[in-house]
Order: sequence, then structure tokens, then C-alpha cells
Amino acid sequence: MTDEIDAKEIVLRIISDIEKNKSWLSEIDGAIGDGDHGINMAKGFAMVKTEIDDKPNELSALFHFVGMTLLTHIGGAMGPIYGTLFMKMAKAIQGKKNLKKEDILNMLSLGLEGVQKRGGAEVGDKTIVDTLYAAKTGYKSALDRKSSMQVAIDELINSARRGMEGTKLLVAKKGRSSRLGERSKGTIDAGAASCFVILKAMGESLKKYLS
Ligand code: ADP
Ligand code: MG
Repeated sequence: MTDEIDAKEIVLRIISDIEKNKSWLSEIDGAIGDGDHGINMAKGFAMVKTEIDDKPNELSALFHFVGMTLLTHIGGAMGPIYGTLFMKMAKAIQGKKNLKKEDILNMLSLGLEGVQKRGGAEVGDKTIVDTLYAAKTGYKSALDRKSSMQVAIDELINSARRGMEGTKLLVAKKGRSSRLGERSKGTIDAGAASCFVILKAMGESLKKYLS
């Protein structure tokens, strides 16, 4: 029997990791964008932190609240994208106190689908989609191999990292850095990086509740 999930612990871990990586995310965005990605993300998640005490400690409700808050407070291209990601992940696990393997796959699948519909980015366009798609695909193949939940989560995180690193070789097709064309090659994408930070924090903090 798995323990009931402490949703606030998971969201607070994501907030803390975004805060820790704020300078790095802005630095990456500075190379091929306008250098505000870390600040934008930290601002949105700081707003989540100020309001989290009054919210229910339930993952679906809390992710919905995170999505709504990011939608209005991140600013830039990412508000609607991360808003959609968290609201779709919330929808995928509505009413669930414990998560099973398939629930996490549904979160990633619905989240990815929502982000693609919202922003129109395909795999290979050098965006957050590259990290999300890699995470979903890696996690799914671990499930297909009948891996344990712990191994599958490691695969999710490692695949997300590979997805992020793979954006280094790509030409940006969406957002501000797409204006650089071929010159956008050589740096990883900032949104792909923040998405990795979020998925890693989520995976690692969820791990102890899963069996
Ligand atoms: P801005 O571009 O407004 O400065 P940020 O710096 O916060 O916003 O975010 C930039 C990131 O947004 C990019 O690194 C990219 O991953 C992501 N992005 C931009 N447009 C899209 C899109 N249409 N779909 C998915 N992600 C996108
Ligand atoms: Mg930017």
C-alpha cells in the first residue's frame, strides 16, 4: 500500500529547484533569447509559494492551481505553455490520492498534447516539447519493459535530460530564438531546460510514494 501523496512537498520541491536554477536558466536564455527565462519562471513559482498555504494538499487540485497561477504570472511565451502543462497534468490525475504507473504516463501524455496544441511546436523545434516528449517516451518504454516504478522514474528523468541536451544541436523553430535561424544552434533551449528541472523535481519527490 502506497502512502497518500504529500502534494505540497512535491510542489515546494519544484519551486525550490526552479529558484536554485534561476541564474542558469536566464544564462541559457541569454545566449539565444532575451535572458529572462529564469526570472520569469522564478516569478511565477514565487507567486505559487505565497498562496500555497491556503490550498488543499491534493496533487490534482494543487497542479491546477499551479497552472492557473503560472498562466497569469510567468509572462513571456511560457505563461500559457506552463499553465497548460500543469492544468493538463492535473486533469490526468483528477480524484486520485495515490498514483499508479499509468497515471504518470497519462500526466505526461496529456501534458505534452496540451502544450503542443497550445504552442504548435513539434518535436525537434527546440522547445520544452523536446524534453517532454523524451520523458514520456522513455518512461513509456520502461513501462513496456515491465520495469519497476523506481526504474521507470529514473528513465523518465534521464530521458528528459537527454531530450534537453539534444536541443543543443537543433535550430529553433518557435519563439524568440527562432529569429536567429542557424545561429540558434550550439546552446540548449531554455524552456527545455526548465522543463527538465521541473520533471526531475517531480520525479524524485514522487518516487517515495510509488511502488
Ligand atoms: P520569452 O521568449 O517571451 O522571453 P521565455 O524566455 O520565458 O519567454 O521562454 C522561452 C522559451 O519558450 C523557449 O526556450 C522555448 O522553450 C519556449 N517556447 C517558445 N515558444 C514556444 C512554443 N510555441 N511552444 C513551446 N515552447 C515554446
Ligand atoms: Mg526569454
